[in-house]
Amino acid sequence: MSCSQEHTAARDPAAAEEISDSEFLDIELDTHYPETPESCDRLSSALGNDCGTESETVGGPLAPKTDSAEEAGTSPELASAGEGSAVLLKRKRVLAERSPLERFRLRYLCVTDVCGQAWCELQVVYGFELPHVPKREEESPEVKAGASIHLARELEVHDVVSVSAQSKEDRWALKILNMLVMLPILQAGGRVRELPVFGMLEGVFLVGVIDELHYSHKGELVLSELKTRGLRSLPGRAQERSHHFQVRLYKLLFDSMVRGLLERDAFVQSLGLRPEQPLGSGVMEHAQKLGLHVHTFGGVLELALMTLSYSELPAIDVLKIEYCHQGSSDAIGTREVSFDEAGVRVELRNCLSFWIGQREPRGVDIEEAWKCRSCSFAEHCEWRRERAENATASNQTKRFK
Ligand code: SF4
Repeated sequence: MSCSQEHTAARDPAAAEEISDSEFLDIELDTHYPETPESCDRLSSALGNDCGTESETVGGPLAPKTDSAEEAGTSPELASAGEGSAVLLKRKRVLAERSPLERFRLRYLCVTDVCGQAWCELQVVYGFELPHVPKREEESPEVKAGASIHLARELEVHDVVSVSAQSKEDRWALKILNMLVMLPILQAGGRVRELPVFGMLEGVFLVGVIDELHYSHKGELVLSELKTRGLRSLPGRAQERSHHFQVRLYKLLFDSMVRGLLERDAFVQSLGLRPEQPLGSGVMEHAQKLGLHVHTFGGVLELALMTLSYSELPAIDVLKIEYCHQGSSDAIGTREVSFDEAGVRVELRNCLSFWIGQREPRGVDIEEAWKCRSCSFAEHCEWRRERAENATASNQTKRFK
């Protein structure tokens, strides 16, 4: 393997059933992208914001948590439902005795899913419930251009190789190996891109991919998230809110990892992994090329936990979001994001309360109904329909007064 650059990131080309955490693209895994941790492209791509260009979408080797709409908690009747789907879905949710995590058979959530809730929670849910609905932005040239920009940036700092994975444990081992390759680079003051981060936050296992970490001239560790946009303007407040939440969650995950707070049992049990599972030949070979002599998934995990607990990496000091134009790659602007851990955790708990079954999902507020115009699920949306019916009823009442 010729590695002309700093390091090599691996991805599993056979993990086509896995869906990445990246928000948007749903790019097939047999491309040359490195692995990203999620199974969430599917739903993230449903989001009506411009998330479709973020790096996490670029090739996540996570296996899908579900193989079909039925497994994902979507019954065949719902999957094919047209007009009546909103009613069916609402009844289904009300009657459901299991939490959305259980219904959709999710062992973890992607950071981008949780951030998608800040845009429209119901849209995130529809991404799972109505997987057959085409996502408007998924195949758009803008989204593809955004993916190219991310890939080009990634290739500036490391090579990407394809590694064949034969099991779920192999796929997670690849994510961990990618992280293990990047930690020493970071420790030596270098720049890394597409760094997988994971951990238990507020009782739910979360997975994400940090676009970039580097040190500023003052020696601060800076997280830089790249967002590409079709328009040559900074995003509005609604999108910004979601973007800010995303980088804050990355910081929470990264900081707890480098503080040695990632626990073996939480990792294995949350994800349903078998530590004793031997690594497949492709992953084993890849690990050996990296100078690591590991034979089982548990061996890779132990190595990662030990490396993290002995690591002297600092917590992230600065959170930044860099916006650039999809068509030209021109910079649009950079925003620094504040961080208040207590506030982030409150927001996270509110988001997770839906996933653990404590409340029903919410659609957008009336002031943000403009989001519905670009939503792929607008014609199926019960929330939107109810709002329209209420508005009609209210107008009629006023007329008869
Ligand atoms: S139509 Fe509006 S409320 Fe419904 S899912 Fe889409 S954005 Fe959310």
